Amino acid sequence: MFENLQDRLGSILNGLTGRGALSEKDVAQAMREIRRALLEADVALEVVRDFTEKVREKAIGAQVVKSIKPGQMVVKIVHDELVEMLGSEGIGIDLHAAAPVVIMMVGLQGSGKTTTSAKIAKRLETRDRKKVLMASLDTRRPAAQEQLRQLGEQASVDTLPVIAGQSPTDIAARAVQAARLGGHDVVILDTAGRTHIDEPLMVEMADIKARSNPHEILLVADSLTGQDAVNLARNFDERVGITGLVLTRMDGDGRGGAALSMRAVTGKPVKLIGTGEKMDALEEFYPRRIADRILG
Ligand code: GDP
Repeated sequence: MFENLQDRLGSILNGLTGRGALSEKDVAQAMREIRRALLEADVALEVVRDFTEKVREKAIGAQVVKSIKPGQMVVKIVHDELVEMLGSEGIGIDLHAAAPVVIMMVGLQGSGKTTTSAKIAKRLETRDRKKVLMASLDTRRPAAQEQLRQLGEQASVDTLPVIAGQSPTDIAARAVQAARLGGHDVVILDTAGRTHIDEPLMVEMADIKARSNPHEILLVADSLTGQDAVNLARNFDERVGITGLVLTRMDGDGRGGAALSMRAVTGKPVKLIGTGEKMDALEEFYPRRIADRILG
């Protein structure tokens, strides 16, 4: 793998000990390394630019104290800034609304939406003692509806029976109605994805939102998404209006830069992370851990 940022900055800056404040020139050199590390961690270019600008301002003029090496000091500035930009930890799902609380899951096909829907449902049932109903709105792929039914069975969570020929918006309305009648506290709507963002997808999401009045709209995204993360998050947020992010496949080798990119362009919190295929592989988001990973 790559030499970590601490070492790289060390070799540039650590000769400076005792010289007082970091100069513009020292910092410019350090910034090149920081930019490289962030791009290697899959942070989107426009976010890297904004980020390095903020760090540059903080680093120039910073006093090099004897007890700490300049390289370490810059790494600390970068780390603190990353943590701040990544946002607060432990923001879970917000259920403060009249029952049934509707959670709408959105995202591209293969991002982990269906799996994450079931994971969240299971967590709400077992940890929060909520009665949950899940419904698949993916009418284009019958296999997706069957997948959700099976996951529901596995996790002992109710799923809405499928009625052939219904539109996604009709299914959404029926799910909310069924939850009311069935005494469910929460309804999770697993919407259809596509391989890429297109207009019909955005229109469908807006229609479903209008019919089901969701309290949470969670964008599920693969943490390995690279430069596309910004587009993805911006589109879903502008067109549908998300309330939070869930990043999946954090158990993989990815460095987690997508978390920073998506958080930066939407300002919406990362609420949960997926760390495996199993139903209990869902964790709280800890910005410090992701910052460590981004820095390598
Ligand atoms: P959807 O098309 O967005 O509904 O995606 P799925 O829920 O069907 O997930 C696609 C694949 O990714 C499945 O094989 C899941 O088991 C897998 N998957 C989902 N979340 C995670 C995760 O956090 N880690 C890992 N390793 N695999 C995941």
